[in-house]
Amino acid sequence: MDDKKLITILVPAYNEEAVLDMLYERLATLMNSMTNYNFEILFINDGSKDNTLSIMKNLRAIDNRVCYLNLSRNYGKEIAMIAGLDYSKGDAVVIIDADLQDPPELIPQMIQYWEQGYDDVYAKRKSRKGETWLKKFTSKMFYKTLQSVTNIEIQKDTGDFRLLDRRCVEALKQFRESQRYTKGLFSWIGYNKKEILYERDSRAAGKTKWNYKKLIDLSIDGLTSFTTAPLRWSAIIGILISLAGFIYMLVIIIKTLIYGIDVPGYASTMVVMLFLGGIQLIFLGVIGEYLGRAFYETKNRPIYFVDTYNEERETNMK
Ligand code: UDP
Ligand code: MG
Repeated sequence: MDDKKLITILVPAYNEEAVLDMLYERLATLMNSMTNYNFEILFINDGSKDNTLSIMKNLRAIDNRVCYLNLSRNYGKEIAMIAGLDYSKGDAVVIIDADLQDPPELIPQMIQYWEQGYDDVYAKRKSRKGETWLKKFTSKMFYKTLQSVTNIEIQKDTGDFRLLDRRCVEALKQFRESQRYTKGLFSWIGYNKKEILYERDSRAAGKTKWNYKKLIDLSIDGLTSFTTAPLRWSAIIGILISLAGFIYMLVIIIKTLIYGIDVPGYASTMVVMLFLGGIQLIFLGVIGEYLGRAFYETKNRPIYFVDTYNEERETNMK
């Protein structure tokens, strides 16, 4: 053994057969040029349905710096990442997407900052090529909302592409929640952060795995795992509405006392009923969201299972 530091490059991959070889080429060039460090590429196969796994096996056969962790099914990127952190051995871990949207050429710069003492060097996008305006707009609105309701600082336009020092990794590993919102966790754990700017490329090949349903799910997870503000809003809006209801009630009583009973009132009754009914349902939904999270977390289920790690079959979860 030499005393060079080990860098783990963590790549979650789901149906990425089209890009893995290309990614490996880029990473290999980089690893070979940085002779002062040892490298490990840790591919996480997140239950891919194409040839992703066999490509990983081939890469391992030609290069023993390559490791792969084959999860027992598709768990989603958030879980794939924590699995990767669990199995990473490096003094620092670089998380990078498989689709080459995050340029590996930024890694040396990250390492440089890490050597200067930063624990979490994250890459912030200057632009988002190949994404529709709707996606950009919705993502902007989401970050705005999230930021306005949480105390911790959420980094805008930042993905998961970053270098984490071992102590950040150890911190993140302690969060065993099953509905993860890793972007929030990065902020939550703190430590010395450093931002670097980059141009985000379009996907090299293949299709994005995110659709609006998944993004909405992630947004709700993000909100509900970092703040109980929606519960507070529900309470406040509830109070305001009942106050308005109370005033209206007084108005009706006084009107009835002065002008006598007036029977027509179908429209106003319906409007109030429908409006209140709607509000109640929404807030029940909000409460349900939190209750649901509590339900999942109290079950304390293992968050993933591993099928194979490199060549060996794994039977136990870490
Ligand atoms: N990914 C994953 N599991 C999933 C979906 C995605 O591991 O269930 C990986 C995917 O292979 C890629 C990264 O997460 O390496 C980002 O996915 P994608 O490029 O589809 O997302 P986008 O860049 O469009 O946000
Ligand atoms: Mg992508």
